[in-house]
Amino acid sequence: MLCYPDRRSALRSGAAAAVAALTAACGTGARTPAGPPAEAATATPAPVRAAATPRRFPGQPDEIAHGPRDRSRVALTFHGNGDPAIARAVLAEAERAGARVTVLAIGSWLDAHPDMARRVLDGGHELGNHTQRHLAINDMPEAEAYAEITGCAQRLKRLTGSIGTWFRPSQTQYATPLVKELARRAGYPHVLSYDVDSLDFTSPGAAAVIRTVTGTIHSGSVVSLHFGYADTVDAMPPLLEELARRKLRAVTTTELLTS
Ligand SMILES: [Zn+2]
Repeated sequence: MLCYPDRRSALRSGAAAAVAALTAACGTGARTPAGPPAEAATATPAPVRAAATPRRFPGQPDEIAHGPRDRSRVALTFHGNGDPAIARAVLAEAERAGARVTVLAIGSWLDAHPDMARRVLDGGHELGNHTQRHLAINDMPEAEAYAEITGCAQRLKRLTGSIGTWFRPSQTQYATPLVKELARRAGYPHVLSYDVDSLDFTSPGAAAVIRTVTGTIHSGSVVSLHFGYADTVDAMPPLLEELARRKLRAVTTTELLTS
């Protein structure tokens, strides 16, 4: 899950709480069984709303961490995993405030909850690829890393008609050159990073999540958030209120980068 930049640097810095949470959060993802239950595979809903396909944004780097700084827009991006009830609650809070978000789904999560792909798109949000199993993709041999990307891409394609608009690597804020190349080969011209880390996966309490995000967010920011944590649900209404007060509109990542 993480999206914590680097487990080793966290250890070095003595961020014990963050590391413990990382172990709980990302470790849980790592232990998720790779294969879907047979019932889930056969219960796949037919695609009803075609998702947008990945596109190249001229002038943007191959790894995008933020959008234009001169427009009052931000992108809230979510690691897609965990209890679907929490995911639905987060999406409902976003929609209540007129916000659109980007969900980077883990393939094994889609196997277990295939209806979530449709739920995300039906809310007007954007859906992307966050690898099949959410392991440390930067440390993998080429073939394994590629399979992590294409495994999730195939599931997104089957469920929505598209491989998803974005790819975000697992357990890292930044992709290695190899992972960026593999993502390109799989059909994603850009890798999606972020410039604001909410640290919501450390379960610091909703107030801390709000403080962390509002303390660092500014025009063009891409914020890393996670489904699967109650704090994130509780943080959403006040966070969206504060963004509105600052006239920062929460849009999809594609909207963030589109004039
Ligand atoms: Zn993640």
